[in-house]
Amino acid sequence: MKEFDYVVLGSGVAGLTFALKAARRGEVAVFTKRRGGDSNTAWAQGGVACVMSDEDSFDLHVRDTLVAGAGLCDEKVVRAVVSDGPARIRELMEIGVHFDERDLDRGGRELDLGREGGHSKRRVLHAQDVTGREIEQRLLEAVRAEPRIRLFEDHMAVDLITTGKLGFATEQRVVGVYILDEKTGAVETVRSDRIVLATGGCGKVYLYTTNPAIATGDGVAMAWRAGATVANMEFIQFHPTCLFHPEARSFLVTEAVRGEGGRLVDAAGKEFMQKYDPRGALAPRDIVARAIDAEMKKTGQRCVFLDITHKPAEFVRERFPNIYETCLGLGIDITRQPIPVVPAAHYQCGGVRTDLSGFTGLRGLYAVGEVACTGLHGANRLASNSLLEGLVMAHRADEEIARVEPVNGDRPRRFELPEWQSGDASDVDELVVIYHNWDEIRRLMWDYVGIVRTDKRLQRASARLRNLHHEVQEFYWNFRISTDLLELRNLVTVAALIVDSALSRSESRGLHYTLDHPETDPRRARDTLLWRS
Ligand SMILES: Cc1cc2nc3c(=O)[nH]c(=O)nc-3n(C[C@H](O)[C@H](O)[C@H](O)COP(=O)(O)OP(=O)(O)OC[C@H]3O[C@@H](n4cnc5c(N)ncnc54)[C@H](O)[C@@H]3O)c2cc1C
Repeated sequence: MKEFDYVVLGSGVAGLTFALKAARRGEVAVFTKRRGGDSNTAWAQGGVACVMSDEDSFDLHVRDTLVAGAGLCDEKVVRAVVSDGPARIRELMEIGVHFDERDLDRGGRELDLGREGGHSKRRVLHAQDVTGREIEQRLLEAVRAEPRIRLFEDHMAVDLITTGKLGFATEQRVVGVYILDEKTGAVETVRSDRIVLATGGCGKVYLYTTNPAIATGDGVAMAWRAGATVANMEFIQFHPTCLFHPEARSFLVTEAVRGEGGRLVDAAGKEFMQKYDPRGALAPRDIVARAIDAEMKKTGQRCVFLDITHKPAEFVRERFPNIYETCLGLGIDITRQPIPVVPAAHYQCGGVRTDLSGFTGLRGLYAVGEVACTGLHGANRLASNSLLEGLVMAHRADEEIARVEPVNGDRPRRFELPEWQSGDASDVDELVVIYHNWDEIRRLMWDYVGIVRTDKRLQRASARLRNLHHEVQEFYWNFRISTDLLELRNLVTVAALIVDSALSRSESRGLHYTLDHPETDPRRARDTLLWRS
């Protein structure tokens, strides 16, 4: 049995940042289910929102975040995250993260701050249009150079081990985690009193998503099974502009394209956003996504277009090299042709409920990054606030754990941890059923629990998911586990949490829009909280 002072699940911005900080205090293991850099973080394009210029202020960033959050942000949390930002950005720069700069007219250089939808000022630090890749690479280099951190790739967390699950009549706390070594197929028992979930979001629960394959909601599902509270899962952000091309599933065209003047047009080249919002193409994402959805339904077109051809070709190529190259590879020259785009599931605003230190309420268990619901995003995330949240919350969690669970402090009672039992379960011979169920969940979530919802569709989704849940549970108990089966099990749990949360919110607010209750109900300005009874 392996044992570590700290166990971190996930190697995106939140997990790696936490690991680097915790390594100053003890031995850290980072378990990640694919290669180290396989994360949503590595795919982030636009950048990190942070107040870095004299023309900006914390108050303005707080205000913009609260406006986007549609009455559900926790202002205390927003203020803390926003004002911790500059210090965390400086730390990133110290480990070698390079953000773009620009020449000043009066000589010298300054950070080239981008502007995105919902932001009243230019405040998005970026590294061309591959900001996440730059951050992920530098963090991974730092982690690999740190002798007190062990990075286990191709190791997938299966379930948390809690005193409650072990049947001890004592304080509920986490004491370890089961980890599937994907190379050998063996399940290891890992002991730790400090476990940090940094497993990211759940985009893969939807048929169309901007997220990479790792985003299957594992952390939310594990925390839920362990008895933690899950909040606001109905608020799924759909990115308005995912590239629409048969060979390019999951390629996002960053909001920054609209920030730099990109226009949203229909097939005839006519702009349509002003009809929906005076802010036009720079309205918050939910409004733009719904407007595109409405235009597509009205015109019967399968996509709309994002047009940046009026900007100088050289500027477009330099500012958006990744988008330019990717589109060109598919036969679209974005300096001369509009980009075909559709909305796609992008970001999970809800998650495992935590306080301002990442504490989940279950002793020893912390959650940071997209897996968590801190109160920063409320009913809708302001663009580029999520990388910021990952950085800030990883820092705060490290400080809090050092305070309440110091590595050299009193140890909690040690319990015998049972080895994983797979019995005589045989390999899944019905792989086709797993793939069928996986597809069915993603399609039904897209069709019934998408951008525009109704009670009837949600109820239909709920009934279908109940059946799927029984089937998947049967597989889980009867067959030897695999990553596909584990991800399917987590997807069905997370899908059900989204649907139950959506059904319990009989109003429209932020990202949750239902035709049956199109108005916002001021009496419903509270979080949706779910926990296992
Ligand atoms: C295309 C795209 C563009 C984006 N652009 C921006 C942007 O410009 N600005 C911004 O602020 N945000 C952006 N976002 C959102 C942002 O990237 C994410 O919210 C953020 O990176 C999440 O970081 P994280 O550390 O919480 O999770 P992730 O970076 O997703 O990392 C999760 C990690 O957990 C691992 N993992 C998952 N399950 C398990 C398991 N069971 N066991 C072990 N490991 C597991 C994964 O393999 C991965 O390493 C974008 C997202 C996408 C998809």
